[in-house]
Amino acid sequence: MRKDRKMTLQKTFLAGLIAVFTLFGSSTLDARLNVVATTPDLGSIAEAVGGDRVSVTSLARGTEDAHFVSPRPSFIRVLNRADVLIENGAEIEIGWLPPLIANARNRDIQTGRPGRVMASEGVSLLDIPSGPVDRTMGDVHVSGNPHFLLDPLNAKIVAENIAAAFIELDSEGADDYRAAMEAFKERIDEKMEEWTAAMEPFEGTKVIAYHATFRYFAERFGFDVIGLIEPLPGIEPSPRHLQSIIRKIENEDVRMIWAEPFRPSRTVQRVSTAGGVPVLRLPELVGGVPEAEDYFSLIDYNVRRIVAALDTNSADA
Ligand SMILES: [Zn+2]
Repeated sequence: MRKDRKMTLQKTFLAGLIAVFTLFGSSTLDARLNVVATTPDLGSIAEAVGGDRVSVTSLARGTEDAHFVSPRPSFIRVLNRADVLIENGAEIEIGWLPPLIANARNRDIQTGRPGRVMASEGVSLLDIPSGPVDRTMGDVHVSGNPHFLLDPLNAKIVAENIAAAFIELDSEGADDYRAAMEAFKERIDEKMEEWTAAMEPFEGTKVIAYHATFRYFAERFGFDVIGLIEPLPGIEPSPRHLQSIIRKIENEDVRMIWAEPFRPSRTVQRVSTAGGVPVLRLPELVGGVPEAEDYFSLIDYNVRRIVAALDTNSADA
């Protein structure tokens, strides 16, 4: 009798253990890498490379300025649980990320750990200051221009960096990550042919941009950004600076203004009206407009808008 009772107890204990395991097992058995990307363009590439083996959260919204993201309470919790943190690498997040990382208390995502990915590694950064840096040069871009992802060829380098980190942290998935990274790069090459062919007729077109966001994009597709509405990165324009930009538009056959959707409408509209050229609201980040659902549709959208505006212009002329 006592033996029976003991066995029943053991069975109950075992059943309890199984129940507990089943209850919590779903998260324990979910061996997916917990990936946090600072911006949704990085998040999109991480999803393409990681597939089912990763779960990706992007901190910044696509509609935000990546330099000035408002931290939300969930950020610290998300960073605390991260296996991987992918950041720009050229300090686009310098104004908001460091205190969040400090508060998240997660050893795995500290600088130098395999879980901390610098997307820019291996990218040739433009606009690196040559002399000493001080605040008279603007608030951002002190490590060079961080908007390199708008050049699709740089997205291939970023995909390689992300794949290398995933492989190091989850070696069982190495073949999957490698295959997905190669597929991503191949798709970039295919799309590049299409994007280049669409943009080629307009090579050398002069534009004004709000911020140096489209520096790499313009360079890749042969557009000439001859002035910025911001006098320095992150610094609001004075009326005098705006006047000089308007004069530039009038004197130098500028065809359009490129501004991200979140830039102040009044300023952009004023320059557009005075200069007599259209404004194109072009997103930098995935999710910046509803059509930009992933990295490819982001570039698709921007190329399509530019080509459509220039085609219309030449038809009108
Ligand atoms: Zn910037």
